[in-house]
Amino acid sequence: MSEHLTTVAEVAVDTRHWIGGERIASTETFTDVSPIDGGVLGEIARGTAMEAAAAVAAAKAAFPAWAATPRAERARILHAVADGVERRLEELAAVETADNGALLRSHRRGVMPRVAHNFRFFADWLLRLGHEDFDTRGHTNHVSWDPAGPCVLITPWNAPLMLATWKIAPALAAGNTVVLKPAEWTPLTASLLADIADGAGLPAGVLNVVQGYGSEIGHALTAHPDVRRISFTGSVPTARRIASSAAAHLTPLSLELGGKSPLLVFADADLDLAADLAVEQYDNAGQVCLAATRILVEETVAEEFTRRFTDRAARLRQGDPRDETTDIGPNIHRRQLEKIDGFVQRALAAGARAVIGGHRGEGQYYAPTLLTDVAQDSEIVQEEVFGPVLTLQTFTDEDEAVRLANGTRFGLAATVATGDAGRAERVTARLVAGTVWVNCFFVRDLKAPFGGSRHSGVGREGATWSFDFYCDLKNTVTAP
Ligand code: NAD
Repeated sequence: MSEHLTTVAEVAVDTRHWIGGERIASTETFTDVSPIDGGVLGEIARGTAMEAAAAVAAAKAAFPAWAATPRAERARILHAVADGVERRLEELAAVETADNGALLRSHRRGVMPRVAHNFRFFADWLLRLGHEDFDTRGHTNHVSWDPAGPCVLITPWNAPLMLATWKIAPALAAGNTVVLKPAEWTPLTASLLADIADGAGLPAGVLNVVQGYGSEIGHALTAHPDVRRISFTGSVPTARRIASSAAAHLTPLSLELGGKSPLLVFADADLDLAADLAVEQYDNAGQVCLAATRILVEETVAEEFTRRFTDRAARLRQGDPRDETTDIGPNIHRRQLEKIDGFVQRALAAGARAVIGGHRGEGQYYAPTLLTDVAQDSEIVQEEVFGPVLTLQTFTDEDEAVRLANGTRFGLAATVATGDAGRAERVTARLVAGTVWVNCFFVRDLKAPFGGSRHSGVGREGATWSFDFYCDLKNTVTAP
């Protein structure tokens, strides 16, 4: 077997970059470790500014031909990529679970089918993308979505292939070429995707995948003058660094960042549903940008809600993510676990009380935690923990509920549990959030705009909003 192949969950994965239709090694590598048992998964190419330049050059060279490829042909190839994802769905699911520790059953039944759907959806949306021509004093206006050029896509580790393909699919459908840099903690499925895209007939250089650290190859990509778009999903501090390197060339940015979303539980809510929604926030070991980590409950039902919540939380099974019966897997990395525990211990020292959890579990697991007696301006209420840690605060009326809900620098999502439709409408109108769920959570459709307000992001992804970002819109006015 080649020294550049590693075998993970019985799947061979190439550990090199994929640039211009070729596998390229780097002189240095970094070690990829599984969060499940700390086992080494592979030595991965550690890209530098040199590989960044090579990948952007390959994307630039491939751009004119891909941009000129008829829409229907681009769509056909993207459907072929989706077919390839579906054919290798079990392998992708197993490799992703080994790499990021999220549940195998959700990768098989939820995430990987969504990955294929990302390609199909944007391929189909491309074919209906358009705007009615209109008349100005006898002149015809025609709006077109012109591809912008090479796009750099930088993604995090919590849902690696799902978040990457959510960007790759519209960028390629629009006629752009792409350089993807996945997170260094989860490099593997992006490499498999390169093989799948190649097998589906995507021309060389249209999709390039490079590996390495954000501060090295990531930074070099975002500072490159030939890059026409940067789309980033990740944390606020990294977004600031990317925005400042993009500023040199005024490269347009799409930013999907962190959150500290609220779950508002009113006294008129179905409390069983509200407790179910609250427990759902431990999904993916709490490593979900959208997670409603701040539970806000109307005072009169706080005790009853807490009882129903703790009953449910006690039934959660934490363990090996490859086991069908597991509900919560490990956290991604030892460093992340230390960060999570730091937040919790500082909160406890400041007077918070742990209703459940409040400590580490075995190995790389964190005990599902609910903290109460927390102040609105405290760190635990204001900062994203990105682990299975929720806080509970009470309110007495709608005004206070909205004030607490909107009282952080984030604005990604909010969930409202109420039995009163009028209240749902009033409260929703006042919430600062890119997505509001009423009596539900995580119902997502690519037809809807997705993104955050305030420090949760800049711009929206989904349907035409994605094409608006990845294209240079042009209006052509023709005289009669
Ligand atoms: P991160 O910001 O540390 O890293 C994200 C990516 O950026 C990685 O690929 C990393 O290598 C790269 N990077 C780091 N420094 C860079 C630099 N200077 N230049 C270019 N690239 C650089 O984030 P993370 O810890 O991987 O992910 C967790 C964060 O992502 C959380 O804040 C979470 O809320 C957020 N997130 C947001 C969404 C959303 O859609 N809004 C979805 C998932 C995760």
